[in-house]
Amino acid sequence: MHIEDQNMALDFDRAHIWHPYTSATHPLPTQLVESANGVRLCLADGRELIDGMASWWCAIHGYNHPRLNEAAKAQIDKMSHVMFGGITHQPAIDLCRRLIDITPARLQHVFLADSGSISVEVAMKMAVQYWQAKAKPSKVKMLSLRGGYHGDTFAAMSVCDPDTGMHHLFNNAVIKQLFTERPQCRFNDEFDQASTDDLERMLTKHHHEIAAITLEPIVQGAGGMWFYHPEYLTRVRELCDRFNVLLIADEIATGFGRTGKLFACEWANIEPDILCLGKALTGGYMTLAATLASAEVANGISANGGVFMHGPTFMGNPLACAVANASIDVLFENDWHKNVSRIETKLEKELQNAKALSSVEDVRVLGAIGVIEMKKAIDTVAAQAFFVKRGVWVRPFGKLLYIMPPYSISSEELSMVCLAMIEFAQEQTA
Ligand SMILES: *Cc1c(COP(=O)(O)O)cnc(C)c1O
Repeated sequence: MHIEDQNMALDFDRAHIWHPYTSATHPLPTQLVESANGVRLCLADGRELIDGMASWWCAIHGYNHPRLNEAAKAQIDKMSHVMFGGITHQPAIDLCRRLIDITPARLQHVFLADSGSISVEVAMKMAVQYWQAKAKPSKVKMLSLRGGYHGDTFAAMSVCDPDTGMHHLFNNAVIKQLFTERPQCRFNDEFDQASTDDLERMLTKHHHEIAAITLEPIVQGAGGMWFYHPEYLTRVRELCDRFNVLLIADEIATGFGRTGKLFACEWANIEPDILCLGKALTGGYMTLAATLASAEVANGISANGGVFMHGPTFMGNPLACAVANASIDVLFENDWHKNVSRIETKLEKELQNAKALSSVEDVRVLGAIGVIEMKKAIDTVAAQAFFVKRGVWVRPFGKLLYIMPPYSISSEELSMVCLAMIEFAQEQTA
C-alpha cells in the first residue's frame, strides 16, 4: 500500500473510529493490517508480524485457512443468512449436534447467540427463568468470582470483577451481584482446603436469592490471566448441588483446547448446568457464540408452556455456523492436543528465563497460554512499538505480558515470540 494512502487511512481512523477500550479523541496508536496468513499479520507497509494473540483467543488455526475459506465460500453461494424464527438449516443443525457431542453429556440444548457477551446474558436469563418456573422467584442474583471477566454488556459486566471491571464507571447502573474471593490456590500447587470457605459462607447466607454461580473454569482470562486449582471447581459443583444453585461455566476463552483439555471443565471432570462458548468457535472468522443448557434447565424453563425469551436477529447465522463446523473438523484432524502440548512445553522452557528478572513478579503457563506478570504496569504504547519492531504481535494489558498463539504456530516462530517477551521484560529491569 502506498505510504500516502496508509497515512490517510490511519488519519481517518484516528479521527473517527473507536477502538476497544481507548479514547475517541486521543486513541492509542493502531497498526494497519492488510492481510493475514497462517500465523502472520501482514501490515500495509509490507512488514509481517508473528501473531502471539490469535486475535484474542479466536484464530486457533491461524489466518486465511483454506478449509475455513472454502466453507465460507460454499455457504455464501447457498445463503448467507436467513431468520431463525420458524426456519432452520443444516449448518446450524450440524453445529449444534457437534457441540452436544463434544461438551459434557448433561448439556443437550443449544442456543446460538451472536457474541460472547450475549451468550452470557442468555445464560443468566436462562438461570433466572429456570428458578421462576420452579416457583423460586427470589433466586435472581448471580454469585461470581473476583478477578472474573464475562463481557461488556450490562448484565455480563455485573458479574465481572467489581474492582478492576467497569463497575465504578457505571455505578448504580450495573446490577449489584454477589462476589466471592478469587480462588487463591494455584493450578499446580497442592489444593488448599480453605479455598472454598468464603464461597461456602456466601452460599450459606445467600442461597435463597442466588440463581447461579458464574465463573470461568480454571483460567480467569481478561480479569488477570490467573490459573486456579481444579479441585476448586469440583468443590463448586458440590456446593451448587448442595445449595440448589445452577453452575454457569463461561468457556468463551478456554473452550476448544486452549488449556490442554477440550473444555476446561474437564480438568475437574465436572459438568456445568449451562455452558457459554464463543471466541474460537468459528476459528476466529466471524462472530458466533453458543449457550448450552442441561435437559433439566431446558425442561424447567419449558414446563407449563414456558418459552425462553431471547432471539437475536442474526441467531444461527448460517455462514458463521458453516465456518464453525469446518473449524471443529480442522481442530480434530490436526490433533489439537498434540499441538497444545507442544506449545505448552515450549512456553514452559522459554518463559522460565524471565523468572529471575527483577522486573518480573510471576511466570505461568497452562496449555497454549503463556503469561509473564510484571511488577509494574506496562506502557502499552511503548510495548506495542517494541514488539512490532521485533516482528511479533503481543499486546499486554496492565501488568500482564501474555500470549495465546494459534495452535498452528511452529516451534521456531513461538521461540521468536517468547524471546521478544523476555527481551521486553529485561528492558524493564533497567
Ligand atoms: C471475550 C470473553 C467474553 C465476551 O465475549 P465477546 O464476544 O467479546 O462479547 C466473555 N467471557 C469470557 C471468558 C471472554 O474471554
